[in-house]
Amino acid sequence: MAFLSKASCKLNYLRDRLAERAVRALPASTMTVTCRRPVVSFTFDDVPCTALSAGARILEEYGVRGTFYIAGGLLNQVEPDRNMISVQGCHELAEAGHELGCHTFGHEIVHTLSGRALRENLDRNGALLDTFERPVKKRNFAYPYNQGSLWHRQLIADRYQTARGGGDRINRGTVNRGFLWGMEIRQPEQDALALVRQIDEVVKNPGWLIFFTHDVSDTPTPYGCTPSTFSTLVRYAVSSNCLVLPVRDALEHVRG
Ligand SMILES: [Zn+2]
Repeated sequence: MAFLSKASCKLNYLRDRLAERAVRALPASTMTVTCRRPVVSFTFDDVPCTALSAGARILEEYGVRGTFYIAGGLLNQVEPDRNMISVQGCHELAEAGHELGCHTFGHEIVHTLSGRALRENLDRNGALLDTFERPVKKRNFAYPYNQGSLWHRQLIADRYQTARGGGDRINRGTVNRGFLWGMEIRQPEQDALALVRQIDEVVKNPGWLIFFTHDVSDTPTPYGCTPSTFSTLVRYAVSSNCLVLPVRDALEHVRG
């Protein structure tokens, strides 16, 4: 039995990797990243309370702003290892000039939904985000679990300016606008801190480095980091003369 479950784990892993390669290989829409000055975006998925109380505050200390990909159904949720942002918290982010992006309503994996269910889901989340800030024509999106969808790629490309996955790479040259590369800030802490080297890379050869993380806490989950490390990364990006911008504003600079 152990052998079988190990084999099925491996098969699932291979299936997911193949699906990701297919989504990347067949973009619905591309864009060209050409920038003279390196651009760095700090983004948060799901948005635990500490992304506001520590993450947003640290960005503000350095005079910059970030992108927060909200899943409306997670608001106010209390999870075993984290509490999620409140309605009031979303208002605070918007008032401070941060960008609110979409992360589906209930954190569903996009490729598990039908086209109709996905449209309804995204409409619902978009309507909620419109209550926090002035409605915008097209927001930015991040895929739950970084899992894109071959089937829905056109729908996502039509609705959003960009959609971000993972992959731990810097965006340069021709990139898939519906599946941008994201660089994860996560545990172990020394790996998170070593991401300053990625900032060196984007300075050496300018492109668009999009970081993403979750909680910013002294006792981080595996998917977050400490305030000290987050602060180090933001300070390093700012002092390296990178443009540190939310995704919405970065777009004006990375397209030449
Ligand atoms: Zn997520």
